[in-house]
Amino acid sequence: MVISELIHKIKEQLTDNADFETREIVSAALKADRAFLIINAKTEVCEAAETAALDMLRRRLGGEPLQYILGFAEFMSLRFKVTRDTLIPRSDTETLVETVLDRLGGGEANLLDIGTGTGCIGISISYYNKNVHPTLVDISGGALRIAEENAAANGVDAALLQFDIMEEIPTGEYDIIVSNPPYIESGVIPTLQTEVKDYEPVSALDGGDDGLKFYRRIIKIAPKLLKNGGRLFFEIGYNQGGAVEELMKESFCEIEIIKDLCGNDRVVCGRLK
Ligand code: GLN
Repeated sequence: MVISELIHKIKEQLTDNADFETREIVSAALKADRAFLIINAKTEVCEAAETAALDMLRRRLGGEPLQYILGFAEFMSLRFKVTRDTLIPRSDTETLVETVLDRLGGGEANLLDIGTGTGCIGISISYYNKNVHPTLVDISGGALRIAEENAAANGVDAALLQFDIMEEIPTGEYDIIVSNPPYIESGVIPTLQTEVKDYEPVSALDGGDDGLKFYRRIIKIAPKLLKNGGRLFFEIGYNQGGAVEELMKESFCEIEIIKDLCGNDRVVCGRLK
């Protein structure tokens, strides 16, 4: 089978985003970039690569997210290793990163990223603003090992801390706390699509009965962690802006709710009073 035939065979079986996913699968199986696939469309595919591609297709058709199959995800034009220990970085979360970068304006900051997962938030902020010194926190040792690899692969110097933010408080004084905590209501999780509910770590999704458990906790401990005038930035679910703003009012001023590219509320931020 030649490359174009393999592409055709895979594409006709995929439904969502078939062109993109097919190219990613065939590129990964051949260890070649997309330009190679076009230029060499009539080149015979070796058996090992064909088997690898069809195996990836089989996993994808079983509902496994493409990023777990490939082992990486793109975020902020950077590459992040992902495993089933980590949430897959979402393009929505780029709004959070861009907001922090914009408000910092190139300034110096010690930054604490709570629930870092792949590390995509803290690492990309520091990648695009070299004056940011990130500390990445997660309850999961598996996730932290991935975050460590991602920091090194992207040339970012990061401190890593493993603990349960619901139980403990890190030491240190920060200019910025950023977090995309688990924010889905527990009762909603069984209704999510297979890709999410059967593959992504539930501890990265479940925000308790009302989805707000981590916001409440982080808002409560933030005054102990932030320097005077320090700032807190959250990603939120589309319908959580008002509730999180309400929780922040006691200790924070200059509260803003920022929309993502789809027009949904996505980020809430404020400055410590
Ligand atoms: N900070 C990581 C991300 O935004 C993980 C978030 C999470 O696990 N809830 O992708």
